[in-house]
Amino acid sequence: MSHCPFCQKKIAMSKAFCSRSCKENYFQLIAIQVPKPFLKRIYIFCNPEQREEEIENFANRHGWRLDLLKNKINELAQENGYTKLSD
Ligand SMILES: [Zn+2]
Repeated sequence: MSHCPFCQKKIAMSKAFCSRSCKENYFQLIAIQVPKPFLKRIYIFCNPEQREEEIENFANRHGWRLDLLKNKINELAQENGYTKLSD
């Protein structure tokens, strides 16, 4: 057994993803680039409402799906120590 790299669901070894949408989401997620200064700004200088707004604007500007962008930002924020893993 292998795992879908997007949703971690178990899939047959012969398959790369469990579904077409996981494949699309996975590649869109890879394409999302979040500059460090942006990340720093939204976590250090913005309150949670402002942060939401900044993230929405950022997603719209680049045509990225908001939920994927949020996942990516959460991941990066944890890696960079802006949020605690327990949050
Ligand atoms: Zn999947």
